[in-house]
Amino acid sequence: MQFDPSSKDRPPTAFSRPTPERPVVTQEGHSTTGAYATLPGHRAVTLPPRDRLRRHLLAIAVAVCAAFFLIHPEASVAPLEAQASRSTSADGLEVLEVAAAGAAGPNVFMIAGAGGNVAVQVGKDGVVVVDAGSADNAPAVVAAIKKITPQPIRYVIDTGPDADHVGGNDVLSKAGNQFYPGTRSAASRPDALRSVASILATEGVLRHMTTAGESTPSRPLVGLPTESFHFAKKFLYLNDEAIEVLHQPAAHTDSDVFVFFRRSDVVAAGDVLDARRFPVIDVDRGGSIDGEIAALNRLSEIAVASVPIVSREAGTIVIPGHGRLYDQFDVIEYRDMITIIRDRVRELVNAGRSLEQVKAARPALGYEGRYGNAGGDWTTEKFVEAVYRSLVKEKS
Ligand SMILES: [Zn+2]
Repeated sequence: MQFDPSSKDRPPTAFSRPTPERPVVTQEGHSTTGAYATLPGHRAVTLPPRDRLRRHLLAIAVAVCAAFFLIHPEASVAPLEAQASRSTSADGLEVLEVAAAGAAGPNVFMIAGAGGNVAVQVGKDGVVVVDAGSADNAPAVVAAIKKITPQPIRYVIDTGPDADHVGGNDVLSKAGNQFYPGTRSAASRPDALRSVASILATEGVLRHMTTAGESTPSRPLVGLPTESFHFAKKFLYLNDEAIEVLHQPAAHTDSDVFVFFRRSDVVAAGDVLDARRFPVIDVDRGGSIDGEIAALNRLSEIAVASVPIVSREAGTIVIPGHGRLYDQFDVIEYRDMITIIRDRVRELVNAGRSLEQVKAARPALGYEGRYGNAGGDWTTEKFVEAVYRSLVKEKS
């Protein structure tokens, strides 16, 4: 059996879309051209080509835009010069200013190209880094942060346990400086943690990092969390803003967090959201498809869209674990896609189909072109298999 992507099980498109003036950042950290389009009376937008027609159709639903589209069916094309001035490259990394409150901060940046996306909050108290990227890229990330500010790194917060997010913990932490370095009980002896930035993560990150088999003599365990927590929400107040660290207990893994900068209105979402592909559901490490959808629901509730003035570059900005910046509408679309695929697989599981039969039915059809992969470390088949295993596990 095959699914028709144009059938009525697609979600209703109840939303028009804002026009975020942000670059598409690839896995390698380079901006892609995508498709540039300037609508009359609107700012330029950057959209992946496959999205253009759909978003245009959505825009037509907005009465204000409809007249323009009817009069000018062919929107003019122009490059996004404004974006180039906001992003700089350093050591192959791309640094993008995401939110700016002015000279006093807080200001939030995204560093792309170092493994997972790295979020950097800067202000008078120092630097809070969300995700450290991979170990190999850590020196370049430190250099990029030093170009942004002379302030010391105070905190490294991990959104999950994967090496492309925690690999740089050790280097970034040692490049930083904790608050009140003299207050540790071990202050009187040489203490490796005494003058380094704190590493904050869920208890599960610590558990996964220390699990047997992940450490080898050539790669000893370093950069473990110095502050771990097991409850639903941890908070900090730094650089004049509340920072909420929100545990998502069973999504990509059992150890994911969202980091919400409340005043800057930016959420670092980690690998719950992968703008390049279907999300990695790591069933062996406590991830689940239903928990993934619950986390995406949570994210779409935290994020606020730019309504009613949809043409304005505004609204909560979401930094995914990988790929370009998202807004609330993007999160909702991603959530809807994952939900539809989950429902298709569940129907097949309930009908008693085997994993091979489920794969053959291609439940991700309609989304494979944009999010699927035939090769690489996370293929469409692996995603479908993870959804299947997650649902079977849930049933048993
Ligand atoms: Zn990742």
